[in-house]
Amino acid sequence: KTFEDCGFAPELMRAIAKQGYEKPTTIQCQALPIVLSGRDVIGIAKTGSGKTASFVLPMIVHIMDQPELQKEEGPIGLICAPTRELAHQIFLEAKKFAKAYGIRASAVYGGMSKLDQFKELKAGCEIVVATPGRLIDMLKMKALTMTRATYLVLDEADRMFDLGFEPQIRSIVGQIRPDRQTLLFSATMPRKVEKLAREILSDPVRVTV
Ligand code: AMP
Repeated sequence: KTFEDCGFAPELMRAIAKQGYEKPTTIQCQALPIVLSGRDVIGIAKTGSGKTASFVLPMIVHIMDQPELQKEEGPIGLICAPTRELAHQIFLEAKKFAKAYGIRASAVYGGMSKLDQFKELKAGCEIVVATPGRLIDMLKMKALTMTRATYLVLDEADRMFDLGFEPQIRSIVGQIRPDRQTLLFSATMPRKVEKLAREILSDPVRVTV
């Protein structure tokens, strides 16, 4: 399998080449076609597998496919991750590919000034990468609205549960329209995560590496 097989536009192919990604990793080979088809996915994969690009690349395609939504405000793609470090890594990966299209990405996590984050979100963006706690703070401050969000990723769901973020995750998902595409990635699938997946994903395809 190649990235060409995914039908990516030339700008995205150039951005992929610029990253030095020559061919898709195992998780990318399996997940990319399914995610690009619009299906919900449960991905059992660890960091280092290339899982980030398997949800970031289709997110760019998803955003570019929504011209009518671009009139509204708030992120189209939302990624939740358990820690600042992971959220920051995902943010950097998203920015690399978003840049090619002028898509704006914001990072929302603790340790940064809430006021600066509020202002950045108010200025507008298409992608938000967030830790659950800080995102809830920003939603309460009305820094952003979720009415436009149609692509939701929960990354390292098991770790988010371990860190006690289940209520925040449920609150965030509850604010996102049901006609969204939802992707859940996790290294392990404890019963609680399995239960959440059953509740918030529709007819998901399971991908394991
Ligand atoms: P991840 O598991 O998403 O954290 O990715 C692990 C590392 O692999 C990151 O440094 C990525 O930039 C890199 N990577 C992701 N996809 C590819 C690919 N197709 N070819 C080469 N490197 C990749």
